[in-house]
Amino acid sequence: MNPEYIVVHTAAFSGKDCDRDMIDQWHKARNWSGIGYHFVILNDNHSQKADGTVENGRPTNTAGAHALGLNSRSLGICCIGHGDKDDFTAKQYESLYKLLQKLMAEFSIPVSKVIGHRELNDLVQQDIISTRYRTSKSCPGHKIDMDFIRTHLKSISDETEQKIPEFSAESRSDVSNAIATLQQHRAKFPNAQDELDEFIHHPEVIAMTK
Ligand SMILES: [Zn+2]
Repeated sequence: MNPEYIVVHTAAFSGKDCDRDMIDQWHKARNWSGIGYHFVILNDNHSQKADGTVENGRPTNTAGAHALGLNSRSLGICCIGHGDKDDFTAKQYESLYKLLQKLMAEFSIPVSKVIGHRELNDLVQQDIISTRYRTSKSCPGHKIDMDFIRTHLKSISDETEQKIPEFSAESRSDVSNAIATLQQHRAKFPNAQDELDEFIHHPEVIAMTK
């Protein structure tokens, strides 16, 4: 599967100790092969596991069972808790943003294609999926603002981009000279040569000395 979308869900369950294994049991009871989501993010209502823990569901190369009409084209992330009653916890958001950024980079998925389950209806509206896949669900829940999530995602990816600094020709040549000097004397540091090579061949250093 080559996912084009990432769909965010709520477990819609406020009970204790809900996690990947519990959802796996629910989905097996529906005669599915097992958990339909690719990832689960726990909240603060688990007696053994930490708030914000990310658990793996289906492998990302396998179609999930979480968004009828879009399963063969998307990854599914389920946040534990009940999104109609409570917002995700701060730790859940922290893990969700990290996971989304990682998956967006890995599969080249734009922010606009990170959607909430209920937004399948927007895809119906846009003729991307058939009207029979219209959903009456509020998932990931009334408390969850998908526009806010996308805006925040966009701002943190912009920040990451801005971290790549611009170097003047002068500082480039300073760094090149410093590296040349280090290389000249590398024999004097027999135990540090690996680290020196690692430094010299780091993409950031290569980018600066090109
Ligand atoms: Zn859902």
